[in-house]
Amino acid sequence: MSKLTLKAYAKINLGLDVVRRLENGYHEVKMVMQTVGIYDTLTFEKGDYGIVITTDSGELPTDENNLIYKAAKLLMEAYQVQGGVKIHLTKEIPIAAGMAGGSTDAAATFKGINELYQLGCSQQELMELGVRVGADVPYCIMGGTALAQGIGEVLTPLAVPPECLVLVAKPDINVSTKYVYEHLDATGVANHPDIDGMVEALARGDLQGIMDRMENVLETVTVEAHPIITTIKERMLELGAGRSLMSGSGPTVFGIFTDEKLAKKAYETLEQDGLAKQVFLTTFVQ
Ligand code: ATP
Repeated sequence: MSKLTLKAYAKINLGLDVVRRLENGYHEVKMVMQTVGIYDTLTFEKGDYGIVITTDSGELPTDENNLIYKAAKLLMEAYQVQGGVKIHLTKEIPIAAGMAGGSTDAAATFKGINELYQLGCSQQELMELGVRVGADVPYCIMGGTALAQGIGEVLTPLAVPPECLVLVAKPDINVSTKYVYEHLDATGVANHPDIDGMVEALARGDLQGIMDRMENVLETVTVEAHPIITTIKERMLELGAGRSLMSGSGPTVFGIFTDEKLAKKAYETLEQDGLAKQVFLTTFVQ
């Protein structure tokens, strides 16, 4: 095979809890991850030498600072790949948004190079290498609905949630994940989300039970810096969402809809009223 194209899907967090701060500065988390139908497209082509990245995004580095580069280098060195790779990224996932855009590109790179050079790595092997690029990369390799613990790399597949529509809105601000975790007082989290209850609701196929437990402890930090997040969350509820929440470290907000007409109307209204820079209407992807 000399060329292939892969989709790299974004995620949202249906629930996000921070259990404690670890001595190495990382945080122990407990999150329900869900893949959604917003994706970047990566094309992989064999090259003579080195890792060459091109992209249609004017905002991203194409050098060793791109997570695609880090993933490609790690895998190609680990398996002593002779030859190079050219990777083109078409960016659709909002950047620095709490949707794991960089991590999912890295995940697709592990899969793409594994296939391109027929390295024969199992998903488990790719996930073990992936965590060295980022805590969310193993989940992005696996995808679907999962409980993520540890620093995000201890994964348990969960029951698929009932079908619904997901309205996603990213305001015109970028949030650094590092900033949010550094400003979180992990010992002072008063109300921990009921993640176990959400896992049970998933097992029952109980969408209302899932929505009732949608909480994200990182909202306290990001919302304080960017109150527009609350404005968008409330707007989604006014427009008919069953529940709305910030994803990851933000600032992206998503709302769950069960009525397609309402969801489409909400999408159009949010597009027009200018609260968010990017708006998507999508579904869960498994
Ligand atoms: P997470 O949900 O994992 O916290 P995020 O959506 O908040 O991720 P990303 O979009 O992954 O954040 O990007 C964070 C930073 O990583 C950006 O500022 C960007 O410069 C850098 N980065 C490196 N490679 C990529 C990539 N391929 N796509 C997006 N960002 C990248």
